[in-house]
Amino acid sequence: MTEVADAERLILEHMTPFGSQTLPLADAVDAVLDEAICAERDQPPFDRVTMDGIAIAYRDWQAGTRTFEITGTQGAGAPALSLANAGQCVEIMTGAVLPGGADSIIPVERITRTQDEAQVDDSADVSLGQFVHPRGSDSKAGSPLLQPGTRLGPPEIAVLASAGYAEVRVAALPLVAVISTGNELVDLEEPIAAYQIRSSNDRAIEASLTRHRVARVTRSRLRDERDKMLEAIRELHDRSDMLILSGGVSMGQYDFVPSVLEELSVKLVFHRIEQRPGRPMWFGLSRDAKPVFALPGNPVSTMVCLRRYVLPALQQALGLRPASAERVTLAADVEFSADLTYFLPVVVTWNDAGVGMADPRPTNTSGDIIALTGTDGFVELSRGQDLYSRGTAVRLFRW
Ligand code: AMP
Ligand code: MG
Repeated sequence: MTEVADAERLILEHMTPFGSQTLPLADAVDAVLDEAICAERDQPPFDRVTMDGIAIAYRDWQAGTRTFEITGTQGAGAPALSLANAGQCVEIMTGAVLPGGADSIIPVERITRTQDEAQVDDSADVSLGQFVHPRGSDSKAGSPLLQPGTRLGPPEIAVLASAGYAEVRVAALPLVAVISTGNELVDLEEPIAAYQIRSSNDRAIEASLTRHRVARVTRSRLRDERDKMLEAIRELHDRSDMLILSGGVSMGQYDFVPSVLEELSVKLVFHRIEQRPGRPMWFGLSRDAKPVFALPGNPVSTMVCLRRYVLPALQQALGLRPASAERVTLAADVEFSADLTYFLPVVVTWNDAGVGMADPRPTNTSGDIIALTGTDGFVELSRGQDLYSRGTAVRLFRW
């Protein structure tokens, strides 16, 4: 049986990139950047005025000038005017280019304007370069702005827009076939008998992969009939970049998934992990190096295995730079005597000291999906302990 850390490592070692695609900027929100972005121009691209007021030469102010002759008015988006003689100013607006010969701005609130003159109030104080955002002070033309592997949130989209990128190259999302197995499963639209259950794992998997923007998903449901299952999985494998199965990986007489996968030449990397829930998880690689995850069917196990292993695997394959592990503090003692790593669902709240406190929300068996509603995710309690004390720092995996 495989340890949690080894399972994670083995999976990550076997993941390879899924390629890239070019998207219009508006469609690239939350995608993973697959090119380096450099500044098109200096930022700001010119000496940018940051206040409405008048633009003056500081040496005039130093020489004692308090009344300036207005030689023109300049707004944002207009070419720069310039000061021809001492004692002159240009009326200027926020976002305008600093006029030639000017170097400082006196805000409009400090000015009394007459016909052709601006008189500076006695209360005003002026320093050289005030209210000017100098050209290139944020970044220089050609300097790196964004690295490959960056998730594109609103600030990154703004930077791409400011650098003139109408389209951007991002990691292509793999087509993942989500396959639920089980004779008891019924689709949402179908009538249901007392001995049947609705298939929910496929929906949970799809929700997670969609939320994290790591895959495009197709859903299929297969019965526990070995020959039909084999043909269906073969076909889905050929049409997809990766497979995620749920159910049929345990020791039951109808748990055909491992043997079917092996017959389809999917090479086993590991089967079973020293963990609860999700112990029977199976992982392998098909002949053309497509990853195949077979998750236990119990709904809590499926979700935990997906979040703990499959999601990070996809994020790595998309080139996403790993985020630092999130840690929270156990808000209560937890007893767990099985010699397995324990994934415990929690609700996280923030105390007055800014510490995330993880309140345990154990499930009533690994079929108890209802207990998961409202939880933020689960914490990982490494095996080898019976008691995990309140106050212990633990790793959090958010749904
Ligand atoms: P299995 O891993 O096939 O032995 O299934 C374990 C438990 O999970 C059984 O009680 C199944 O009914 C349940 N289960 C399996 N697949 C699904 C599914 N797609 N949706 C909801 N429950 C499932
Ligand atoms: Mg089953």
